[in-house]
Amino acid sequence: PAYEALTPRTLPQRLGTLPALTDRVGPPDGWDVTEVGDGNLNLVFIVRGDAGAAVVKQALPYVRLVGESWPLPLKRSFFEYHALIREEARDPGAVPEVFHFDEDQALIVMEYLDRHIILRQGLIQARRYDGLGRMLGRFCARTLFRGSDLSMKAPEKKADVALFCGNVELCDITENLIFSDPYFDAEMNRHTAGLDAAVARLRADLALKVAAQELKLDFTTRAETLLHGDLHTGSVMVADDGDYRVIDPEFAFYGPMGFDIGMLISNFLMAYMSQPGHESEPGDRATYQDWLLAATDDIWSAFAEAFSRLWHEERRGILYQATLYEDQGHHQAADVALARRLDAIWRDALGFCGVEMHRRILGLAHNADFETISDEARRATCEARALALGTAAIHGRDSISDMGALLELARRTG
Ligand code: ADP
Ligand code: MG
Ligand code: MG
Ligand code: MG
Repeated sequence: PAYEALTPRTLPQRLGTLPALTDRVGPPDGWDVTEVGDGNLNLVFIVRGDAGAAVVKQALPYVRLVGESWPLPLKRSFFEYHALIREEARDPGAVPEVFHFDEDQALIVMEYLDRHIILRQGLIQARRYDGLGRMLGRFCARTLFRGSDLSMKAPEKKADVALFCGNVELCDITENLIFSDPYFDAEMNRHTAGLDAAVARLRADLALKVAAQELKLDFTTRAETLLHGDLHTGSVMVADDGDYRVIDPEFAFYGPMGFDIGMLISNFLMAYMSQPGHESEPGDRATYQDWLLAATDDIWSAFAEAFSRLWHEERRGILYQATLYEDQGHHQAADVALARRLDAIWRDALGFCGVEMHRRILGLAHNADFETISDEARRATCEARALALGTAAIHGRDSISDMGALLELARRTG
């Protein structure tokens, strides 16, 4: 059957005999269907019934945020499905369980995260989540390490690179929206009134324009590992009982390890920079800001720790073979190689962190952390500081030596 977008009304007729749904939700005559998609691209339905609930996510043949004038392939659902099952294998329990995939209808049936909210909303409401930074850091380490040549055999890795190479249009969005549009007067850009001077300064920074394209070159050419590709705080769902999940990997692609972790850190730092805009009394978000920086610190330290453990225990791919190091008694050389890798990932992450900040303030897809600051002048102040932090992160790729230094810079800028 040809693709057709679902509606809450047609979903029970069309999917009412699907065991993946009836097994978990019950018979379709008792189904209650609501569409909750708040994202930029796809439809998301919650299907509730006598026996339980499930989520049906379906791609649309265009960009939801923009409309039918911007077509986008349904195949992104295929990449999301393949990324989800790899993430589940590499970090079990970190993503919603997948129950069914229908390529023709571009739909995925998955676990309904019923106690969860989108992390970004939680951060705007100043909620704390114990162990969150550590979970996300471990997720990055496990998925990035196990999806790379450090872990995979050549045939498996190359076949997978070929598979995800097809995700052309979503990569194209990243390539344009993140790495180019913020640095010139691109058609779909917008920014808060009051930022004109800051924007003019940023666009006049020629070294920044050079650096952004160097980062883009890294993104397009360095197929180090399978990236989530859209790992911001709107792609994490959190429950108060400490269950945290990563969702929405439709941008999955082989790229540099620092991309996911840099985007994640960037979104935590934007949550930090936006807090003054959500104060009801001056300073009443200060202790929450400390928590955000501690969580950001945890992301990197848990990442480095878990990555190091995997380096020592699971280096079974085509790179840095134990035959060259441990088997020769050269354990120290393996440690030196690890330290150099972590340092390279850190420097890449700084650059990706910076461009992500710029594009969320100047490009098409803004984030709610800043957008929900209703007072425009306050929003512009927070955003101008975040723009400056992004620029400093990009220019500081070689000088911001560790997370402590980045957090200190955020404190001084914010
Ligand atoms: P998009 O690709 O359009 O951004 P997302 O996968 O991010 O779509 O989902 C959009 C929204 O749907 C999320 O912000 C979240 O509120 C909800 N959602 C998505 N997946 C689930 C799930 N498995 N359980 C509960 N809610 C979900
Ligand atoms: Mg999303
Ligand atoms: Mg979204
Ligand atoms: Mg998405």
